Amino acid sequence: MSTSLLYHAFNIKGVEYRATRYVGNRIIFRAEMNNSMKECPLCEKSHVIFKGQRSRLLHLPPVGRKRCLLELVLHRLYCKSCGHLFWPNLQFMTGKKRYTRAFALTVLDLLRFSTIRAVADYLGVGWDLVKQIHKEKLAAMYRHQNFKDLVYLGIDEFSIRKGHSYMTIFVNLQTGRIIHAVEGRSVEAVSPFLNKLRKRATNLKAVAVDMSHSYVKAITENLGHVDIVFDRYHISALMNRGIDELRKEIQAKLDKNDQQYFKGARFLFLKNYSNLPDQSKKKLQSLLDANQPLFFMYNMKELLGYFWMFSSPALAKEFLYSWCFDALCSGIMPFIRVAMTLNKHKDNILNYFKHRITNAVVEGTNNKIKTLKRQVYGFRDMEYFKLRLYHLHRSRYSFAG
Ligand SMILES: [Zn+2]
Repeated sequence: MSTSLLYHAFNIKGVEYRATRYVGNRIIFRAEMNNSMKECPLCEKSHVIFKGQRSRLLHLPPVGRKRCLLELVLHRLYCKSCGHLFWPNLQFMTGKKRYTRAFALTVLDLLRFSTIRAVADYLGVGWDLVKQIHKEKLAAMYRHQNFKDLVYLGIDEFSIRKGHSYMTIFVNLQTGRIIHAVEGRSVEAVSPFLNKLRKRATNLKAVAVDMSHSYVKAITENLGHVDIVFDRYHISALMNRGIDELRKEIQAKLDKNDQQYFKGARFLFLKNYSNLPDQSKKKLQSLLDANQPLFFMYNMKELLGYFWMFSSPALAKEFLYSWCFDALCSGIMPFIRVAMTLNKHKDNILNYFKHRITNAVVEGTNNKIKTLKRQVYGFRDMEYFKLRLYHLHRSRYSFAG
């Protein structure tokens, strides 16, 4: 090792190489800070001398298969002009941390194609240290976000843990990026970020959400000028739940013998007819033939699927009004409840034809989030979890573990 090799291999400047020690599996390079720092940072005069010293041990990238450390003799500096006494922070150091910049860069390089656990094992350091380096990098990357290019926003939720702990994510629907995440899904939880968007996302036109009361309230309060678009997949899901309710009602009224006809039939009503295999189509048909209310509601469900294909907003509106009218007159309670919900929210449903946005991209992200949750040991560190969410769009590999 030499002073110039320290510089060329590890970008370490401002030191003189002294010695190398081999201790077990480790190589320890000893170096001493030189007197290249001549200027006082306070008075800018060049009357700086050494006054006191201490040793620090910093991680370096490995050489071969050996772990490397830098034993650095650091000198305290004293300015004879103004009396300023200080410990310098050399450019290869990372504040008071136990690693060099070169080590941090190596960690980040390895994380591109490996897990946190594997990187920690390879470098012979703790999982926490690797995580900390990654967290700081991500925090720096996502500290200042620009929302000028945000035109369409999607809001959705997922459960953090089994039970009732939820997280709300905000997604740029055009890029698929998660731009923010908060714990909870109440008005109080989501309002601060929406309020921030009011000032900073000046090009925002519409927000896609499910029909959750609290999201709608928070958007209306904070982004009054922005359209709300009820996500079409959530509307399909609402209709499916209605059908399922009706099927259960009918099934419960049948005697044991007749109930067996419904065995395994649940999914027949929920899937799109065109996606069913022929055998299932036949079974569905016979169930529908025998149950008039189910027949009616099922056909209305299929019909609702065509609603989204209208190119003219005026025709779509006409269709929705008459669809709701037929549903409300049907006398089928589960269906009437669905229609009342849709009727109450018709303006936000019809906004789809103005912007044509859905949360499909958000639903796609949910699968990535599931993988992330599984891999990162339950994510006790919520801040890191959120940073990982913001970084999901860049993660070619799910290297969390
Ligand atoms: Zn000074």
